[in-house]
Amino acid sequence: MRCGWWRRGWEGWSFRGRGRAPRWLGALAVSVLFGPGVGCSSGPSLISTPPELAPTATPNAAQPIADGDERLTRQVEPLAYRLEFEIDPTRDNYRGATEIHVRAHAPTTTLRLHAQGLDFHDVFAVRATAPDGARLRAQVHPGKNGGLALSFGEALEGEWLIEFSYSAPLDEVPMSLYRAREGDEWYAFTQFEALAAREAFPCFDEPQFKTPFTTSITTPSSMKAASNAPLESATPVGDQVRYDFATTEPLPTYLVAMAVGNFDVAEHPGLPAGQPPQRILTVRGKSQHTGFALRQSSTILAQLTEYFDSAYPYQKLDQVAVPSFRAGAMENAGLVTYREQYLIIDEARGSVTDKLAAQSIIAHELAHMWFGNLVTMQWWDDLWLNEAFATWMSNVVLKRIAPETEPELQAVKSMVEVMDQDALLSATPVRKRIANSGDIDNAFDRITYLKGLSVLRMLEHWVGPERFRSGIRAYLERHAWKNATMFDLLEALDKAAEHPVSPVARAFVEKPGVPLVELAWKCKDGGVELAFEQRRYLLSGSSAAADAWQIPVCVRAGGADQTASHCFLFDAGAKMVETPAWKFCPAFVHPNADETSYYRWRLEPQRLLALAREFRTQLTPAERVALPSHAFAALEAGALDGATYLAALEALGADEHWLVLEAVLDGLGKLNRLLTGAAEREALAAFTRRLLAPHAKRIGFEPRAAEPVSAGLVRSRLFQTLGSIGNDTETLKTARVIADQVLQDPEQVPPAVAAQSLALAALAGDAKLHDGLVALLGRTRSPATRDAVVRALAAFRDPELLGRSYELLLHGSLRAQDYNVLPRTAARDAATQAVFWGWYVKHESELIRLLGARVSASLPWVVAGSCSEAELEAARAHFVRPEKLGPGARQNLEQALETASRCLNLRRTVEPALRQHLAEVSATR
Ligand SMILES: [Zn+2]
Repeated sequence: MRCGWWRRGWEGWSFRGRGRAPRWLGALAVSVLFGPGVGCSSGPSLISTPPELAPTATPNAAQPIADGDERLTRQVEPLAYRLEFEIDPTRDNYRGATEIHVRAHAPTTTLRLHAQGLDFHDVFAVRATAPDGARLRAQVHPGKNGGLALSFGEALEGEWLIEFSYSAPLDEVPMSLYRAREGDEWYAFTQFEALAAREAFPCFDEPQFKTPFTTSITTPSSMKAASNAPLESATPVGDQVRYDFATTEPLPTYLVAMAVGNFDVAEHPGLPAGQPPQRILTVRGKSQHTGFALRQSSTILAQLTEYFDSAYPYQKLDQVAVPSFRAGAMENAGLVTYREQYLIIDEARGSVTDKLAAQSIIAHELAHMWFGNLVTMQWWDDLWLNEAFATWMSNVVLKRIAPETEPELQAVKSMVEVMDQDALLSATPVRKRIANSGDIDNAFDRITYLKGLSVLRMLEHWVGPERFRSGIRAYLERHAWKNATMFDLLEALDKAAEHPVSPVARAFVEKPGVPLVELAWKCKDGGVELAFEQRRYLLSGSSAAADAWQIPVCVRAGGADQTASHCFLFDAGAKMVETPAWKFCPAFVHPNADETSYYRWRLEPQRLLALAREFRTQLTPAERVALPSHAFAALEAGALDGATYLAALEALGADEHWLVLEAVLDGLGKLNRLLTGAAEREALAAFTRRLLAPHAKRIGFEPRAAEPVSAGLVRSRLFQTLGSIGNDTETLKTARVIADQVLQDPEQVPPAVAAQSLALAALAGDAKLHDGLVALLGRTRSPATRDAVVRALAAFRDPELLGRSYELLLHGSLRAQDYNVLPRTAARDAATQAVFWGWYVKHESELIRLLGARVSASLPWVVAGSCSEAELEAARAHFVRPEKLGPGARQNLEQALETASRCLNLRRTVEPALRQHLAEVSATR
């Protein structure tokens, strides 16, 4: 544990004895906490002022108005919190008491903070220096967007304790403090990021306020409880038990967490010296497959502490497998929460894909203990300091602990994928402008995570890994336990690097869009002249203002027996001519050597095709992995014709590298969305079968003894494409036979083969298969099987059966966390997209109830999968007032409509050529 200054931070704080209830909670008899007459607010009304609270201001005085979207000043700042909860997860409400130690830097009669949906019973202020002295009762003014104002009859100045008692609903929407049922048992969990702490306790709900928290949880004696800090005592209170936890290090509110229930607890048996205690909590009966995650976590912690040269910041590490959880995982300090499938892995039978996903997400969350938790963004505009870094750092760790999964090349694939989204005119920058709570929720997007990752990777390559690491270490050391901004990070990197990083980094982080670098070259006088142009990459038919970046560019050339590279900073505006010292005329030049920098590039079509055909084997794996995506981008921008694109895709289809193959599969998926007529689809199916048959033979439908890791990583995607786009009868037949075995007994089939077979069988699935899946969903306790079944239920093509799958969401068999699988799977195909859209429109209001108001602003994304004029029109009419769905919905709608229009535009412009060429290709073979 790091200690030191933070302890001094609360030295003067009057904790009146640990392990006993503060008097304002003690005054509430335990028996009445959940008894009749204790009402909880429900519905939209926020905080009610109980009638017994006599207002201290005159009725005619101007009422302070609090808007939760307005940023708080530091005129009044929190120094520490004491949180008391009484939670019985079998009940649909809970009680809370909160004491916030604040300092008012100037006299004020009004305090502004946050609370939402809490039913306050009492709110008082008492001098911190005289806690038994006079108490001032507050008048409570609930505001909009979770804002809360308290007004007092006299001015507060200096240090005060603000004491609240309240009750609140405990519902099953997986957000804030919520409950979840597993079998006959109930559990309670929390998810506070970004703005849901305010729904569980009154607080200064902004990341700039980092304070210690001391939490206690009273719960039925059959249950356990965990929070951010270690347990200090458990005290029986009637038929309940009160758990008191140690005081935490300084945390922002969004990192506070709790878990309550009859958990199984697995402990790491033999931790290396110097590591904190590590446990995994699961719901009852599920702890037997936690060994993999426990061991990986310890290995990952060792890697992180070594890289950062900084000890794990907290007193212990608990990780919780949560059965109902919307995010993948959440990095709460010392109490990290995950979807079950990332912590519960059958080590003997589990697939390499599942294990890699677990390693990757654990590394991401544990990297947050430093990036985000130890050093926290000042404000949500720098969310990328959390998320891009954790994503990048996860890659650094994977390169060390799982090099066989080729994390560096996976980062290349992520880079070119996110460029697709960054090509939209409605794309947002990595560092986003935050005007309201919707902007905060929307900031958790692929641009923040993956463009952020790509920019960091570019900077690391440019600066050099050693210098980059010393910059990171200096940044962490300087801002430990505090907040930081982008400028703090760049200052540290500027100091560590040989050349200033800031001007390059800021353009990539603060501006939307992906640069396009166009390269033409000619040989002369025994050497070569390279002519570069840069501008924003745009889709065919769209336009934007002229733009330029400072781009670290490296090109790589090859000729007969020769290879050479040339690097420079492209900072001279739109055009540059470079004459490298090469003494040969290159046969090819790759415009982004090893794909280390973040830009689209362009060559003349025949030169691009030659890279795929003649020079593919001379390219590096990174260059090959990115090539299918760059070819499609050229097609979309109108710089490549359909026939040349297909020829390039076909040439790249011969590559046996698993990530090149995945990139080719992505290309086939994009074509599949464009082509809708029966004849064109049959032509695409034939093209797909021909391209993939050698890979299918080489890799096999089921794992083989001693096969390379890469076979396990690509198998599912390969056969999914062969079955769904290639319509390959043998694949579909094999899948159905295995799917029937899985329904009989899932234990007989390895989980990866089961998942792949169920999803494929569902494509042509009948009612018998559907019934079987629903029954399996009800009885399985394996997170991997459950995940496979959910994905299969979403993959049916029969509209009636697909509709039945969607209904499961409304009936509770599918959970709120499963929702995203439905639109994403539907969007793969025009027919299923239409079925989902039709269902969505009918059930939108039920969905909002089920998913929670905070999620509803993201619902317009259901349009993104459309590729038809009629659906787009219908969507525009349906979402005529997106604000109704919450702040941020308009931006989501704009991006979703642009995504759909992009498909439609592409269909208009390139589909005829693709159709004709596909027909020719299939006729001639
Ligand atoms: Zn994260």
